[in-house]
Amino acid sequence: MKKDSLITHAGRHPERHFGAVNPPVYHVSTILHPSVAAMEQSGKKPFEGVRYGRFGTPTTHAFEEALAAVEGGHKTVATSSGLAAITGALLAYLKAGDHLLMVDTTYFPTRKFCDSVLAGLGIETTYYDPLVGAGIKDLLRPNTRVVFTESPGSLTFEVQDIPLIAEIAHGHGAVVMMDNTWGVLNFQPFAHGVDVSIQACTKYVVGHADAMLGAITLKDEDSWLRVKSSVAAFGHSPGAEELYLGLRGLRTLAVRLRQHAATALTLCQWLQTRPEIERVLYPALADDPGHDLWQRDFTGACGLFGVILKPGFGKPAIEAMLDGYAFFGLGFSWGGFESLVIPTYGHSIIRTASAWDHAAISLRYHAGLEDACDLIGDLEAGFDRLRGG
Ligand SMILES: *Cc1c(COP(=O)(O)O)cnc(C)c1O
Repeated sequence: MKKDSLITHAGRHPERHFGAVNPPVYHVSTILHPSVAAMEQSGKKPFEGVRYGRFGTPTTHAFEEALAAVEGGHKTVATSSGLAAITGALLAYLKAGDHLLMVDTTYFPTRKFCDSVLAGLGIETTYYDPLVGAGIKDLLRPNTRVVFTESPGSLTFEVQDIPLIAEIAHGHGAVVMMDNTWGVLNFQPFAHGVDVSIQACTKYVVGHADAMLGAITLKDEDSWLRVKSSVAAFGHSPGAEELYLGLRGLRTLAVRLRQHAATALTLCQWLQTRPEIERVLYPALADDPGHDLWQRDFTGACGLFGVILKPGFGKPAIEAMLDGYAFFGLGFSWGGFESLVIPTYGHSIIRTASAWDHAAISLRYHAGLEDACDLIGDLEAGFDRLRGG
């Protein structure tokens, strides 16, 4: 089945629900068991069937089944946010004395978690250059348990050679995790050597900026049971409405993504012609340094990209440009229907293992589903404010 067909059908079982096209939203904590014997039986395989709200309901299972199919994995564990998926996956595999290799361009809260919680638990993190390639072998230690990847990085958009890193990491017995939020439908993690794939479904899967949701997808039953047990032990469980909004968003994900990517490409190509712009950071551009790897490994792009301004613009002028946008809202997150922008300059880009010019004025844009001409008009008026400010 092609992706468009898959997302339309995955996780749907109308025959179980009176023919209802969508699965019902189970608002439930307590599950009644018909007998003590049945209750005891349900404890033998606590994650199968429906036992107690926190372990999952048919709404959870529908979402997890659909996401596993989308990612090309075995089974998925749904979580209450993207960050809960990241921390849940890491804590399922790491213990005191272990070593973690974390990509330097990782989502900032992931870095914060490593430096605070994991450090406190006696788990050491080494950050590595996203473009490390085969050099990852020099960083692997006997106690390196996990190599964590994220490609492209969501602020600076370097594309990692995931198959190469995975092959070397596997040779050392390490588990390869990936934050696949940018790739969503367009990167097949398990076909590229990833063992544990994580998505912040808050972004494109939900797609409407109205719910927080995450997912961890595993390649086999053993790793699924490990992660499911760990996430359950922490008591993380997504809410019924959020799971439903994830399923609902999934049905239109392919068509939305194509539009987001097409608009982003139009904006990026226009931005490349502008005298105010030093560089556009978007791997779908033919002259992007990550383009070849992106073309080899991805089947498409999304609406998220960055720009670096030419030097010399002052903070008031940049703020006048950003504050005055009509369509680009100043907000964190991305993947919703709406266009967004955030300033990423100064030290808001934290790097400890690879170079980044902190004098560079960079911005991150999300191309929403507005008309591309309207968005270009908004950007153009912004440049007028930038030059005039
Ligand atoms: C937003 C984001 C997350 C975290 O997702 P939340 O649902 O906000 O917790 C993780 N990784 C990336 C790349 C993100 O952009």
